[in-house]
Amino acid sequence: MKLQQKTTLLAIFLSGTLAVLILAISLLFFRQFSLSTAREHVRSAAEVVRVSLTEAMINGVINQRKSFLKRLAEVDGLLVARVMRSPDVIRQFGQGLDGEQDLDPVEKRVMETGKPYYGMLEDESNPIFRGTIPFIATQNGEPNCLQCHNTPNGAVLGAITIHISLGQLQQKAILTIGVMTGIVILFAVFLTIFYRRQMTPVVATALEVQQVVAKAKDGNFNGRILYTGNDEMGDISRDMNQLMEHLQESLGTITRDVSQLLRYEAEGHTNLITTTTEMVETLLEIAQFKQSVEEDRTKSEVYFRIGHVLQEQFGIHTFSIYEVSTPGMNHMKPVVVDGELDSVCKWCNPEILFQADSCRAHRTGHVIDSIETQMICNQFKHAHDRPDLGHICIPVFHSGTVGNVVQIVMERVHGRLYQRLLPFLKAYMRESAPTVEAKRLLDTLRESALRDALTGLHNRRFLEEYVGTLEATAKRKKNRLSVLLMDIDHFKEVNDVFGHDVGDTVLRVVAKAVAGQVRTSDMVIRYGGEEFVVILQEGDEYSGERLAEKIRLAVAALKIPVSSGIMRKTISIGVAGFPADGEDIWEVIKCADLALYDAKHNGRNRVVIFTPQLKG
Ligand code: GH3
Ligand code: MG
Ligand code: MG
Repeated sequence: MKLQQKTTLLAIFLSGTLAVLILAISLLFFRQFSLSTAREHVRSAAEVVRVSLTEAMINGVINQRKSFLKRLAEVDGLLVARVMRSPDVIRQFGQGLDGEQDLDPVEKRVMETGKPYYGMLEDESNPIFRGTIPFIATQNGEPNCLQCHNTPNGAVLGAITIHISLGQLQQKAILTIGVMTGIVILFAVFLTIFYRRQMTPVVATALEVQQVVAKAKDGNFNGRILYTGNDEMGDISRDMNQLMEHLQESLGTITRDVSQLLRYEAEGHTNLITTTTEMVETLLEIAQFKQSVEEDRTKSEVYFRIGHVLQEQFGIHTFSIYEVSTPGMNHMKPVVVDGELDSVCKWCNPEILFQADSCRAHRTGHVIDSIETQMICNQFKHAHDRPDLGHICIPVFHSGTVGNVVQIVMERVHGRLYQRLLPFLKAYMRESAPTVEAKRLLDTLRESALRDALTGLHNRRFLEEYVGTLEATAKRKKNRLSVLLMDIDHFKEVNDVFGHDVGDTVLRVVAKAVAGQVRTSDMVIRYGGEEFVVILQEGDEYSGERLAEKIRLAVAALKIPVSSGIMRKTISIGVAGFPADGEDIWEVIKCADLALYDAKHNGRNRVVIFTPQLKG
């Protein structure tokens, strides 16, 4: 129930109760008042009659009492005035006039007891008060009753019955009570109206406060209370308006600042509180994510973490994270696909791997959104056969160039949802980008420190770093390793005859030929000036000896163009095995070296397998 209704009801209830109470009390008092007034009237009339009768007796005109009583009964409101004689008086003075000896039961009792009687007569149309009062003989009065009456002092001489009509009195009382009730009702009506008027600003302000608070709950703080009266409600309104202004300003500032940090424009009609809370939460999560990324050891861990965030935080399960090669290489490779590390290119044509420019996000540096523009990129594998699928590709910048491309694949129907996630996704990518870039740089540095610049093969340092893992893996898997140590025959001559540059070219060509003969899982190392080591895991069909022979033949078959025509070179190879020939790889290399020495010694361009006799 509304406040105004409540106060109106209360006013009506209070006024009604007051009116009823006043009515009841007035009726009660009036009854008491009219009864006692009537009693006094009766007593006065009886006294008048007594005095008159006594006077009449003294003056000898007692016989005229009938006309006196008749005149008395003509007094307004006095209906009956009848006197009776007591048996003592009848005995002394006779029967008297008609009716003076006929007593009703009440009169008999009064006559016997000497006590007056007062009461109402049962007549509903006209309320009548009846009184029967005895006349008592007294010797102390003036005149002395006992002078004429032969009765003892205190005896009952007679009685008088008087009827008084209370009708007029009652009418007046009803009128009075009616007027009073009317005044009270009028007062109550005025009171109610006054109350309602007083309550109007309270109720109106309460309603306004309710509306403003309801809006604020929805995150909208632009509601204001219009009432600005000079009372308490006005004070509340002003305070409330100030509070709303303050909230609007502060939350607006927070939202603006956080939006700037996230580079996210909150829509105008959004809930300021929930949007800001969400954004601050996202900022916190991003800060935690950034810290985790910085603490990750390798680039792969970072990529895996980003994939994890996409899955867990954003519920994205079909996606690719591409790594774009250093500028100029025009390559890119998938590093995480659908949460899997180093997976194959699943959502794009593999063409982009070798022609990174054909990736639109990479080329333009813009977000490529097929939800906004259908068929925007032809390199999306399902651009033509799955119109129900869409993709959004986000370029991630490393020092001004695109270093990664994050591709999200979704059912088109859910496209809008993912579009709304974009600012947050971008924020995550932006925050992780410097770490990814730094880790990539470190990888490159490490890689260059472990590679030989001339041939592009791994160098001896790489072997030093890797040898522990190599041995451990071989022991664990019970693999046999073959170590091939090779040295170009008469290489010094090349330098001497054609110069150092030609020597370098020959080194490069031979290195390429050697690398071309091994599997990707095998290791080719430039071990010294023109010495190479190949380490391979032996399989059934794959022995060190056979590979060494292949390499020897391949090198021998090389036709290296030099200024004076074609140059041919040969290579000698010593082969030893791990763990058969040594406790560790270095020991095995020494054995291979012995075999190589043997090969050189026995005419070069040959393969020699180590035997313990070579230690000789
Ligand atoms: P052998 O058949 O006994 O191996 O005869 P060799 O002439 O090849 O003798 P050796 O292996 O001792 O010669 C190594 C030469 O390789 C010495 C050095 O000048 C040359 N060399 C080493 N590193 C490089 C390089 O990076 N570039 C060039 N051009 N020459 C190099
Ligand atoms: Mg040598
Ligand atoms: Mg040599």
